[in-house]
Amino acid sequence: MKRVSVFGATGSIGESTIDLLGRAAPGEYKVVALTGGRNIARLAEQAIVLDADVAVTAFDACYEDLKTALEGTGVQAAAGTAALCEAADRPCDWTMSAIVGAAGLYPGFAALRQGGTLALANKESLVCAGPLLLAEAEANGARILPVDSEHSAIFQALVGEKIEEVERIVITASGGPFRTWDLDAIAAATPAQAVAHPNWSMGQRISIDSASMFNKALEIIETREFFGVDPAQIEVVVHPESLVHALVGFRDGAVMAHLGAPDMRHAIGYALTWPNRRDIPVARLDLAKIGQLNFEAPDPVRFPALRLAREVMEIGGRAGAVFNGAKEAALDLFLDRKIGFLDMARVVEHALEACDKELGLAKPLIGLDCVTQADQMARKAALAAARQTAA
Ligand code: NDP
Repeated sequence: MKRVSVFGATGSIGESTIDLLGRAAPGEYKVVALTGGRNIARLAEQAIVLDADVAVTAFDACYEDLKTALEGTGVQAAAGTAALCEAADRPCDWTMSAIVGAAGLYPGFAALRQGGTLALANKESLVCAGPLLLAEAEANGARILPVDSEHSAIFQALVGEKIEEVERIVITASGGPFRTWDLDAIAAATPAQAVAHPNWSMGQRISIDSASMFNKALEIIETREFFGVDPAQIEVVVHPESLVHALVGFRDGAVMAHLGAPDMRHAIGYALTWPNRRDIPVARLDLAKIGQLNFEAPDPVRFPALRLAREVMEIGGRAGAVFNGAKEAALDLFLDRKIGFLDMARVVEHALEACDKELGLAKPLIGLDCVTQADQMARKAALAAARQTAA
């Protein structure tokens, strides 16, 4: 019986994972830990249905509600960031890392120490601390499998191939809800407009990151960290249908593309049953019905996040952690209507400059403390930059 845990179980990726676990044959999986944030009713419901050993909310203030909801069920309740890491410390074969944001970093590291498989949806971990995460996996004989649809697609296209023979990796971007909007309209966009992704059903934060292409920016860095290719080998193409997830080009000119319906259960299921494939209830593609697929180059003026990602990769060191921290802070400011949509990229750029002066972005990441320090400094710098933008 495979022991599994789901971190971020109540979110979009978490729910898709729970859906697949719920469809499995009885006795195939033993659920060790499920974690969530504020959606206590749903967390308790999942934990009871899947008979988890422990359910953890990230927030101390939610503990009493969780404890009450689980009373008499045999499922243990716990709360707080330390409890998240303790849950990840429990022996487990497969852990889904689907907490949103840098908050997923520490539980992911703790899970790797179990030596099992970390199914990584939390791309922020790789962006903030890629070399540390990979080293932790190696030191513990653990494996990281990508869950982001593009990275799962690349991973699948590379089966049986040599990474040295890869010429380029092309990740696709839907272009989000503002793909065809002009600059003035994008500048005036509201959170409700930004969250309305045309193809994927995702959590609020990644949906808005998709609209700004910060999500794609994170994914370029994730590609570099995960597959170890040179940044110049990574390309982005806008593909509004979101059916081709990524393409890998080889030195002989061959290109392997991965296609599938925009349903995260494919990539999650692949990571769950790897190295085998199982039936997954995702829609099958009818290419004749689809008729045509479209591709276009991303616009660097309306979507400056991609340029910032390239600068971050060039600098290396702590730049990824600062980039992500500033991006998360800028997103919060946009959600609070304190800054406009396009200000997010300006705030991140200013924060990178400020942290470079104060900290030195190129300094190597020595340990997780460095990541936390860079993250906190980035959030402060983003707030300061936003005040300047507003002034
Ligand atoms: P959601 O916002 O839907 O879910 C986030 C999960 O994290 C929820 O369980 C939430 O709990 C929990 N959470 C929120 N804040 C904290 C915190 N401070 N500490 C611990 N847990 C917290 O996000 P998604 O599922 O969309 O995304 C999750 C991750 O997967 C992100 O890193 C994202 O980039 C990545 N990803 C997502 C894809 C998607 O299709 N959604 C595709 C590829 C990658 P609660 O809701 O109970 O408050």
